[in-house]
Amino acid sequence: MTIIAAFNSDAIAVHDPSPKPLIDPVRLQALLGEARGRFDIDSLPECASTSTVLLGRAAQGAPGGSVIVTDRQTAGRGSRGRCWLASPEASLTFSVLWRFNNGVGRLAGLSLAVGVAVVHALEAFGAKGVQLKWPNDILYDNAKLGGILVELQSEAHSALAVVGIGLNLSMPETIGDGAGFALPPAAVDRILTPVPERHALFAQILIELASKFDRFSNGGFAELRDQWQARHAWQGRSVRLLRDGLLEKEGICRGADADGALLVQTASGVERCLSGDLSLRVQ
Ligand code: ATP
Repeated sequence: MTIIAAFNSDAIAVHDPSPKPLIDPVRLQALLGEARGRFDIDSLPECASTSTVLLGRAAQGAPGGSVIVTDRQTAGRGSRGRCWLASPEASLTFSVLWRFNNGVGRLAGLSLAVGVAVVHALEAFGAKGVQLKWPNDILYDNAKLGGILVELQSEAHSALAVVGIGLNLSMPETIGDGAGFALPPAAVDRILTPVPERHALFAQILIELASKFDRFSNGGFAELRDQWQARHAWQGRSVRLLRDGLLEKEGICRGADADGALLVQTASGVERCLSGDLSLRVQ
């Protein structure tokens, strides 16, 4: 950031050594409504990956509700070592730490619940047609608007989740033409004009996350299944499941069950698939 300082009517440009991040936590807290006080937000100009930083803070005892948002990730992560690409003005990238009383084994559908939260937040601003792909992508018109990365750890009597979310508000320049991506990229500016103000949208996502986390804690993914299913992008479509690029299963996609497992109708009947290392592709 450059600040113009005026002394005796002479304008002098000086470099501000501590540029303010795009998200102001105080302004954000004021927009959180009933969720105010449930989140502790740290806004960083730059970091390797918000989830990596938050996992480190979790190891040092950071409380549930800790949030890290950054303008610039130098090593944004997707699943299985993939990259999440972002650029400051175009992207919203953040991670949330939450603790659940359930064991890790009961959190399989958490990334789907998070997807419902993000879609509800966009819908609160009037977005239509935003859909979800199992297990962790936010789509519009079969193109990828955002990604979710859920990382889980067991604790003594609970489980800890670090939920990373990357959303394209406009197209990040770092993406280029998206060559080599399994799905083309999309951005919120295709759906909502103007794009909601960054604090307002982020606050709405956090409000929805707090509510979905509460419901998930009470009843698991079953509580949110109907809402996910109503926004499922590939319901009834022919799909393939790949493991390390190799075909493992193909059939008709029937959505997700009450545990968040994908249901695929194959020649042998309806089969359940848990996320693990599987990649879902539409035919
Ligand atoms: P899967 O094989 O499970 O379908 P995926 O390809 O969707 O995985 P993710 O880890 O969910 O992988 O997301 C990372 C991928 O998303 C990257 O490899 C790249 O293809 C794509 N990608 C990276 N950044 C962006 C972005 N800002 N917008 C859209 N797509 C992106």
